[in-house]
Amino acid sequence: MKENEIRSFDDLYADVIEAGLCSKCGGCVSVCSANMIVALKLDENGFPTYADKELCLACGLCHMICPHTHTVREEVKSRFNWKDPIGQYADVISAKTTDPAVAEVATDGGVVTSLLIHMLEAGHIDGAVVSMNIDGYTRRAVVATSREEILLAAGSHFGEVPHLEEVGEKYANYVSVLKFSCRDNPQKLKKLAVVGTPCQITSIRNMQALAIVPSDIITFTVGLFCMQCFEMSNLMDKEFIKSRKIDPDEIESMNIKEDFILTLKSGLKVHIPMKEIEEIARPACLKCDYFANDYADISVGGLGSPEKHTTVMIRTIRGRLMIADALAKKSIKLRESRSDDERRVYRHGMISLIEDYAARKEARAEKYRERSR
Ligand SMILES: Cc1cc2nc3c(=O)[nH]c(=O)nc-3n(C[C@H](O)[C@H](O)[C@H](O)COP(=O)(O)OP(=O)(O)OC[C@H]3O[C@@H](n4cnc5c(N)ncnc54)[C@H](O)[C@@H]3O)c2cc1C
Ligand code: SF4
Ligand code: SF4
Ligand code: SF4
Repeated sequence: MKENEIRSFDDLYADVIEAGLCSKCGGCVSVCSANMIVALKLDENGFPTYADKELCLACGLCHMICPHTHTVREEVKSRFNWKDPIGQYADVISAKTTDPAVAEVATDGGVVTSLLIHMLEAGHIDGAVVSMNIDGYTRRAVVATSREEILLAAGSHFGEVPHLEEVGEKYANYVSVLKFSCRDNPQKLKKLAVVGTPCQITSIRNMQALAIVPSDIITFTVGLFCMQCFEMSNLMDKEFIKSRKIDPDEIESMNIKEDFILTLKSGLKVHIPMKEIEEIARPACLKCDYFANDYADISVGGLGSPEKHTTVMIRTIRGRLMIADALAKKSIKLRESRSDDERRVYRHGMISLIEDYAARKEARAEKYRERSR
């Protein structure tokens, strides 16, 4: 195939899905359905597949927006003034929520949940695409449009959540509402925030670089640092947990920071080194080199912050404005420090750790890609 030839879903299938790189972000299905073609759907395992091959126009959009084809990578990098090794950022802070209800359910400092609630209540957004707990470890992407819904979705979910499909479906509804002016008030969905892993946020940035729907209603992105996602069945059923003498029913919550942390109902924390969790990772994640969510408005993680604090990389002007507003309105507050010097030391420590984990992830991706060549 020539360099500038348009690729169809068949090419996406060969280059990404068959190659074991598909992270099930749902972006390809989203653009196809949002453009009213609906040639694609997600299969029962969450992988994209043809809904109706006859409908495919071979427009190439699904291939272009996929985070793992890198077709528009240079364009996105230049839009975000990307700098080696972890992208552009204006500042890195450690902060936490001031709302006890958020602190109780959040993974780290609850900055994400408090910021979204603040943005919604201040009218900066009409809703946020978040990951809601359906039952046990099953999650679904939803558009939360109230404080209660955002709160219900707090916490980290390390299983698969094909977010962008949800945006596509909503957008398709949104367009049909506009067209036939019935049902729902379409104004509600004019400004959406999306919380996502780097693969999900990169799909959105690829769509925005190409100016295609549904990305135009996404006005703010919160990017999670991401070492990997798990196949939850592997995590729960395999020897992995049992060999550590942990009863799966005793697990209260999970977190990934410097290592993988299981908090048990007794309050005991079990720390498992990153290297050891590779065996339960989703295979595509082991070949992925995205870590610091370089193209989000803000990137967040627990890495480098103390317990119950979130590390926040402020990347864009919009990110800076939203964080400044949330701090000014006291929805979130900075980690306490005795002096500016101490704050600079914290900042330096966080940046070093983020760079270190980004490099580790790149090396890991290279190793696993090499293995499958
Ligand atoms: C798959 C995954 C891998 C991660 N890996 C790392 C890591 O290696 N190192 C690190 O420092 N931090 C990692 N994080 C981020 C960390 O777990 C926290 O989400 C982050 O620190 C924000 O904490 P918070 O208390 O401010 O967020 P909260 O206030 O608890 O809000 C979290 C938000 O993220 C949304 N969310 C949860 N799971 C998903 C998902 N799977 N996809 C999209 N949105 C989701 C929730 O709906 C909620 O809106 C990871 C998160 C996920 C989901
Ligand atoms: S119509 Fe375009 S976006 Fe849809 S499957 Fe075909 S090539 Fe992909
Ligand atoms: S766009 Fe997302 S769901 Fe589609 S092939 Fe790429 S990674 Fe998989
Ligand atoms: S490691 Fe994270 S960013 Fe990479 S494919 Fe997996 S979920 Fe997506």
